[in-house]
Amino acid sequence: MTTPTNSQPNTPQANLCPLCGEENRCAITAGDDPASCWCQAPEIEFTEAMKAAVPSHLRLSACLCPACISALASRTE
Ligand SMILES: [Zn+2]
Repeated sequence: MTTPTNSQPNTPQANLCPLCGEENRCAITAGDDPASCWCQAPEIEFTEAMKAAVPSHLRLSACLCPACISALASRTE
């Protein structure tokens, strides 16, 4: 198989962070209980600014990774 490895920003991959392309470690894509995902931690808060940072066509198909969440959180006032 000779699959091109150049990343296409318009190709959503549910297990990859749409912002940085790293694995988002989402429990759902890993086949684990969604309630056990890191994003369910009480200190994780999704703000409108975070949602706005994700391209709209990726918003429902891929989660952000913990690194991007904390980066966005520290950027939010
Ligand atoms: Zn990320």
